[in-house]
Amino acid sequence: MASKKPVVLLEHYLKQLKLPTMLREYPAIAAACAQEGQDHIAFLLRMAERELLDREQRAAERRLKAARFPVVKTLDTFDFTAQPTINTPLVLELARGDYLEARENVLFMGNPGTGKTHLATALGHCACAQGKHVRFFSVTGLVTQLLEAREERLLERLFNRIGKAHLLILDEFGYVPFSKAGSELLFEIVSRAYERQSIVLTTNLPFENWTEILGNERMTGALLDRITHRVHIIEANGESYRLKDAKKHAKHKRRENP
Ligand code: ADP
Ligand code: MG
Repeated sequence: MASKKPVVLLEHYLKQLKLPTMLREYPAIAAACAQEGQDHIAFLLRMAERELLDREQRAAERRLKAARFPVVKTLDTFDFTAQPTINTPLVLELARGDYLEARENVLFMGNPGTGKTHLATALGHCACAQGKHVRFFSVTGLVTQLLEAREERLLERLFNRIGKAHLLILDEFGYVPFSKAGSELLFEIVSRAYERQSIVLTTNLPFENWTEILGNERMTGALLDRITHRVHIIEANGESYRLKDAKKHAKHKRRENP
């Protein structure tokens, strides 16, 4: 029984030190190192590497969860040939994440169904993998949350929480006009983010129509000024992918049951 003691202690220490991967894998790593004739330093190195890799992966998973993407979409499921108006090299460059370091923004503009939300989510996914904190919001959902927080006097807390993200994804600006208070709160988000956070925004609306959504021409000007100061614009003006997909299915169906 005495020989069991070091193992019990070791496991206790590894738990205390919060090294779950080492705790789980030390017997296998020790056995492999013994078999390969590796020294203690090599053993320790392998243990540390495994722990670090796992830790990074756990953190990336946590960041993905915290981002609250409605659906996970990635670049490798995006068919760039289906949407030739999109500037593919620019999207791929953005995926590397330098725009986040520079606190630059990205605007996806264009017709419905052209992959704007897909690409915005995919950029968010890349940012999570690069160690960045991301928050995805539908613009209307965000404004509703802000209005509710204001009612409950929790606005500052919400602003602070949102302010911690490196990247804010604001999806689908332009479908629903906001109340005066809603517009002001959205403006506040953009103002606070300016030069501190990156914003990726998707919209179906050309700039000249933004006043229709925000209601106030001066504020729209000020908001646009901040968002577009350092911005990459990606236009998607092809046919809707959903529509194309639906047409393709309809064609198949017709062929199956003529
Ligand atoms: P938008 O935000 O521009 O209205 P979405 O990004 O929501 O369009 O795209 C609609 C649907 O079509 C989504 O399920 C998306 O994943 C898919 N989709 C759009 N474009 C492409 C594409 N080029 N390749 C693969 N899937 C696409
Ligand atoms: Mg969309």
